[in-house]
Amino acid sequence: MDLAQIVPERLFWITKKNFIISNYLKTIGKYLHQLEKKLSNCKYIFVVGGVISGVGKGVTASSLARILSDRGQIVTAIKIDPYINIDAGTMNPTEHGEVFVLDDGDETDQDMGNYERFLGVDLSRANYMTTGRVYQSVIERERNLEYNGACVQVVPHIPLEVISRIENARARVNADVVIIEIGGTVGEYENILFLEAARLMKLRMPNHVFFVMVSYLPIPSNVGEMKTKPTQHAVRTLNSSGIQPDIIVARSKMPLDDKRKEKLSMFCNIPKDNIISAPDVDSIYDIPVNFEKEGLGDMICDKINMVCGPALNTGSTKWKKFAKSTHVKNNVVNIAIVGKYFNTGDFTLSDSYLSVIEAIKYSSYASGSKPVLTWISSMDFEKNPNSIKSLSKYDGIIVPGGFGTRGIEGIIKTIEFARKNKIPYFGLCYGMQLMVIEYARNILGIKDATTREVNPNSNSLVIDIMEDQKAKVENKKMGGSMRLGAYPANLKKGTIAQKAYKSSSISERHRHRYEVSNAYREALESAGLIFSGVSPDGKLCEIAELPADKHPFFLGTQFHPEFKARPLTPHPLFTAFIKACQKGKK
Ligand code: GLN
Repeated sequence: MDLAQIVPERLFWITKKNFIISNYLKTIGKYLHQLEKKLSNCKYIFVVGGVISGVGKGVTASSLARILSDRGQIVTAIKIDPYINIDAGTMNPTEHGEVFVLDDGDETDQDMGNYERFLGVDLSRANYMTTGRVYQSVIERERNLEYNGACVQVVPHIPLEVISRIENARARVNADVVIIEIGGTVGEYENILFLEAARLMKLRMPNHVFFVMVSYLPIPSNVGEMKTKPTQHAVRTLNSSGIQPDIIVARSKMPLDDKRKEKLSMFCNIPKDNIISAPDVDSIYDIPVNFEKEGLGDMICDKINMVCGPALNTGSTKWKKFAKSTHVKNNVVNIAIVGKYFNTGDFTLSDSYLSVIEAIKYSSYASGSKPVLTWISSMDFEKNPNSIKSLSKYDGIIVPGGFGTRGIEGIIKTIEFARKNKIPYFGLCYGMQLMVIEYARNILGIKDATTREVNPNSNSLVIDIMEDQKAKVENKKMGGSMRLGAYPANLKKGTIAQKAYKSSSISERHRHRYEVSNAYREALESAGLIFSGVSPDGKLCEIAELPADKHPFFLGTQFHPEFKARPLTPHPLFTAFIKACQKGKK
């Protein structure tokens, strides 16, 4: 080919490339400069994962947050989910874990629950981002001409949006330290742009940005020896994104020995002291204490160059006491959790109902009990009605939230059994709605009482769709459109609920479309059911219960109390339920 023919083309490309590069640098430079002024009052710790997922990044990030907050820093935490989903609300909980709801109604990843529980704070939608969310903002801004005619590109505009979101979360609480967990593992295609944002921050503020890699060290059974090679590869992969980890948290079945620390240090280019051994533990609440013992707190304070207070394992801190209480061996309370999703194996279950499980634990530990949970599929009672009697061996029964029609009759049978046999019953959201249906059927005699969710054509819709939800469902506007987040309620004096909360007004988190129909409220009340919590305008039933002289504990909440249970401040309703279980112990 004639040289003259290709030169102009080459020149065109070189010019275009230079234009793109200079435009890129200009955009980054200008934008980061503005952000830097705000960002640089704070330290940023990115937590990334190596080798496999599910290795405990969330708990590591939460534990780091706890350590630093106990040492006197204002800490906030951000979860980055690399999914395209705008939020976790549309994801199947049996595959992706629980959908955790924040005060502001954001439907987020279960790790947000871990952060709130470990930190003891309320987070907001500023603390959660997904790829979908980041792209949506950039595209909206482009549509509004906010980029002033620039060519909007994956790089730099996406990483810059990520950085500005990190700044928003910092500014919300004026944090000293922001912990940012990047979902997935390094080397995945999905989280590259988030790593790019982190790299840019490190480049511009080298003394403010740090990286903790949580990695996994397998012990193959045929070798019987802990292997460092996968972690070495993971670090190199992270290096290829331009990032060097400052600290490795080495997760394994066993503690890391000196030899392995040396090896990792040598091949991952990290001082040996910055490699933290994190073996499996019985209680995740020991992890902050263990980390402090391993010197992680001092190491981080030193790295981020902050004057930090004493560690949480010195003296008798609340956390240390709580962590100790999680090892209780006696005073077992046997609790049955009855629902429909329960044929998918224990692993999935504990993820789908994480907050419920933790809420039970906090209230049990606070009263010196060890909770033992049994997961029971309500469909078993439909197939074999006689087996319902097996429920009599439990000290209490919980029906957690849920959706759809499967297993509903079995749950209603369960509630009837708990009511008649005076077994403490606690219904959460769907568990409250079905409790009201059971009462309508068996006490009011409305034999076909149901919820619109199960049978929209029924003439006895004791539970019906909320007015403002109708159009959303008809137009298939299903994402982020339920009644979500914190709403206030007033409590009736002298009821179980009011006595538990020791207050006449509360605020709790919601996630539902249906509600107790006001058409049946009076009849239910005159048949003995008490709506002990109602919305301030009196229109929505928030808590239903039977009086204490009729049943030791028969109570359901339209909201999800589990989202506000914290290790150091157990939820009053769970505590009242556990106390009732202890009192009636078999
Ligand atoms: N399915 C019920 C509703 O949408 C309950 C929801 C729940 O338990 N979170 O109202």
